[in-house]
Amino acid sequence: MKNFTTRSLNVPFPKRDPHNALAMPVYESVAFEFNSSEDIAANFRGELPAHVYSRTTNPTVEYFEAKIKALTGAHQVLATTSGMAAISTTMLAICKQGDNIISGKNLFGHTIALFEQSLSAYGLETRFVDTNYPEQVEALIDENTRAIYFETVTNPQLEISDIARLSELANKYNILLIVDSTITPPVIFNSKSLGVHIEVMSTTKFISGGATSFGGLVIDNGLYDWKKNPNCSEFAQKFGNDAFIARLRKNYYRNMGTPMTAHTANYMIAGLDILELRVERCYQNCMKLGEFFESHPNVTRVDYPGLKNSPYYELAVKQFSGIPGSVMTFDLSSQEECFQFMNRLNVIRRATNLNDNKSLIIHPYSTIYTEFTEDERLKMGIRPTMMRLSVGIEGAEDLIEDIEQALT
Ligand SMILES: *Cc1c(COP(=O)(O)O)cnc(C)c1O
Repeated sequence: MKNFTTRSLNVPFPKRDPHNALAMPVYESVAFEFNSSEDIAANFRGELPAHVYSRTTNPTVEYFEAKIKALTGAHQVLATTSGMAAISTTMLAICKQGDNIISGKNLFGHTIALFEQSLSAYGLETRFVDTNYPEQVEALIDENTRAIYFETVTNPQLEISDIARLSELANKYNILLIVDSTITPPVIFNSKSLGVHIEVMSTTKFISGGATSFGGLVIDNGLYDWKKNPNCSEFAQKFGNDAFIARLRKNYYRNMGTPMTAHTANYMIAGLDILELRVERCYQNCMKLGEFFESHPNVTRVDYPGLKNSPYYELAVKQFSGIPGSVMTFDLSSQEECFQFMNRLNVIRRATNLNDNKSLIIHPYSTIYTEFTEDERLKMGIRPTMMRLSVGIEGAEDLIEDIEQALT
């Protein structure tokens, strides 16, 4: 089986269902019982694997993890309560007080807040840099650096870093390369083939599809020797190649309480099975809208790395099969014009989420980035004339008709 959807639909359950259910049942149960006290003792000694308590593992969540593992070729996968839970618990599992990470400077806003406000309070330092310049990244690495962190496509700048070059650098210093791939889900991006050690993602966005629920994933590609990370080396002695997910699941997922629920996993499984169809449709819509914007006299600028004139087009082809997600930006001549345009839209919704089935539009300058000074916003590439459009799965003709009437 080569096709993503065929493979997704045919991942076997970890255990055969007693009723031969075709869809994985939603195991909405907190605890699981054992046949004997000997069995439960053996389980607690780590000798009899079984589900015990759903804050650590759950059968429906396990199946979602198994599907991601089968589809990506990853070594280990863990599903969390949200994208932020995936990122925060990953960082806590690989760093301790006094350690630092080097991070791309353009990140999802709450990730910046996590690094600058939450983790810094525990002595984890983040050094922000433009990951398009590996030599600048290299200059910041020291003996306490544990990872290089970046996003596949930054939002809303839509910049793409050369992953192979960052991978080379991470391997040269034996540190981790961690990517947030939320914008480019598994069907168009395989982090393992590009040498990424750990992939984190918010499944709230593309995988949940209808923006039904929060979820996150931590994916260990099995490419890193965990003895080389001082925080995981002890676990590496006992768990070998499984050290990172074992430590993450025990010390953070379980102890801090960040599991995905069975109900959410059920939504994610349904979303994953039709992910390829939705991504393909979103991409076709992006290309049609991109051409429309490029030819419209009122639109002063369009950014989408899937368009041939984008400076990141070649990297998009190399790293994301030419489909760099479905977020695009475009500019009108003033903020006032943007506001009027957005107010006239009927099909495209004014909302801040990404990769919903519905097309969503926002004016980042006056919303997501409103707390920053004008100067800071401009430095981050947030222009008052720019709107961000997360393109959904509606018919392209309906989207274009909506935009056309709102532009006049
Ligand atoms: C939304 C988002 C997150 C956070 O995910 P949640 O599921 O909302 O916690 C992290 N990274 C990126 C790139 C995102 O777009």
